[in-house]
Amino acid sequence: MRYFPLFATILATVGVYSVRSAPPSAAGQPQVNVGTATSHTGTATTAPSTSASSAPLPSVTVTINGQTLVYPPLDRTPNTNDPIVQQWLKELNLGSNVPNLPQSNGGVVNFDSANCQPPTTILPNQGSWTCQKVIRPDDKVQCPQKGVWGLTYDDGPSLSTPALLNTLNSNNLKATFFVIGSRVVSFPETLKAAYAKGHNIAIHTWSHPALTSVSNEGIVAELKWCMKAVKDVLGVTPIYMRPPFGDTDDRVRAITRAVGLWTVIWTEGFDTDDWSLRTGPGLKTQNADHVIGIFQGWMKQLPTMTHGFIVLEHDLFPQTVAAAQSVLGIAVKQPGLTIQTVPQCLGDSTPYLEVGGKPPALTSANTSNANNSTGSSLADTSSNSSDPVAHAASTSDASLSIIYSVLPVTLISLALSLNFGHL
Ligand SMILES: [Zn+2]
Repeated sequence: MRYFPLFATILATVGVYSVRSAPPSAAGQPQVNVGTATSHTGTATTAPSTSASSAPLPSVTVTINGQTLVYPPLDRTPNTNDPIVQQWLKELNLGSNVPNLPQSNGGVVNFDSANCQPPTTILPNQGSWTCQKVIRPDDKVQCPQKGVWGLTYDDGPSLSTPALLNTLNSNNLKATFFVIGSRVVSFPETLKAAYAKGHNIAIHTWSHPALTSVSNEGIVAELKWCMKAVKDVLGVTPIYMRPPFGDTDDRVRAITRAVGLWTVIWTEGFDTDDWSLRTGPGLKTQNADHVIGIFQGWMKQLPTMTHGFIVLEHDLFPQTVAAAQSVLGIAVKQPGLTIQTVPQCLGDSTPYLEVGGKPPALTSANTSNANNSTGSSLADTSSNSSDPVAHAASTSDASLSIIYSVLPVTLISLALSLNFGHL
């Protein structure tokens, strides 16, 4: 999607102050505190052994399923000096399993527009989806069966997600939600509600950076913190992941596989364009008809397509959810169209590690062009997690809503008016 880094920064910043100034949470609501810890325990039983060497950053403490858990600052790539991240890196032992490819934008996190321009260097064999539109054999980009729509929503859970869930549930539809870890710990009850109704939960990083611009260690931190957040809330670990902006290459793919995740992008051309449904000063505002028109165009292609498709949509903003609801209202009446989650359409009935899910084994197929020799499967590395199994709890997402409800409209407009490129 078009995701807005400044928006995220504002969100995080305002979130810090709003949470600090929030009144005490009522009974049953999650306790959210922002501190200045230099390390994160992540579980109730693992104490940090060392402090991070970098300057202290605010951490977020959340009570989930009766456990007090500490997470990295929201909407920022987590500190890779954190002892937990260091432990993950030690377990993964990435070493030569990851090809030595340059980070986009000289390693400075960017959001798509600069990915293919200097100082970014794209090698001929880099396997970049963003810049070269390279799809590797393990990438999931379509549903194999004709007439099947792999329904996906990115960037939640959010305040808008419950409305979308209502529409999906009332139509007995199941979707894959590629969730952001920072949103998961902000809206754990919404995530539980989606999971409880049979929707598929998948990974979309902790803070939504363009992963090709992030270091190897940073990518591990982005993926594993998101995986941990989902595990803390649901008790299961997803095995599917979508890179923000679709931004991947053979380096990102190798790390994604190493942590136990399949890469899912979307079918070329099957972006609903819902990111354009934003408002703000000086913006050309699209409305839901724009998205509906795109959807109807796909339906005209349906009879001649030889395979199904995976569509990109979002559940972050009210406008995108409203568009999704409109499209679904038409789609359920469309002859010859079957709507499924991504794992369903791929024939995978166990999309979580703890229920028999099968993460990708490392193979040389996807990295051969990058002269990468891969070792044995690292599938077991994720199953070694010491994360506690989640238990039922009576928390709600209400107090986290404060973060969003206090965002000044002017700041939202400012953030939304900046276009950093989509996805
Ligand atoms: Zn996204």
